Amino acid sequence: MIIKFTNFADGIHELEFRESAEKLNLGSDFVDDVLLNCEMDKSAHQIVLRCNTQATAHLICDRCTKEYDQSINHDFNMIYLIDKSGDSEDDTNIHFLSPDQDKINLSKDVKELTLLAMPMKHLCSEDCKGLCPKCGKDLNSGECNCNKDEINPVWEPLLKLKDKLNN
Ligand SMILES: [Zn+2]
Ligand SMILES: [Zn+2]
Repeated sequence: MIIKFTNFADGIHELEFRESAEKLNLGSDFVDDVLLNCEMDKSAHQIVLRCNTQATAHLICDRCTKEYDQSINHDFNMIYLIDKSGDSEDDTNIHFLSPDQDKINLSKDVKELTLLAMPMKHLCSEDCKGLCPKCGKDLNSGECNCNKDEINPVWEPLLKLKDKLNN
């Protein structure tokens, strides 16, 4: 995911990159290729990139334990100032390119931003019903026969005792 920007004239250019998740070192959760689409606005002293990444993660649902694929998308902007040496600013989206540089390598940024875009909760769908805590049936494929209001058998002797005391 390297842009050799010296090959481009000033103006707007659409760029597309594809790299395997494995090559980007994204870890075992990610599968297939990662796509990077950028619009590069190049002028004499700066390069502005508006990019979108698309990766695919193979996850296990926290609720129903089913395996599923989720696409992880992320938009980001980067500004590169050419021919200006500056201390790195607080704004991490601004980078400096020394005059002898002719390339921008986005692989590290794509890797980091993709990992950041990964949701904390892994759900096969927003309304996943999960598994029945009693029989373990996947409730997404239909209700089970367990009575959800049924009293947990552990408490039965106590309730009987309570009845006795009340009478
Ligand atoms: Zn699920
Ligand atoms: Zn059940």
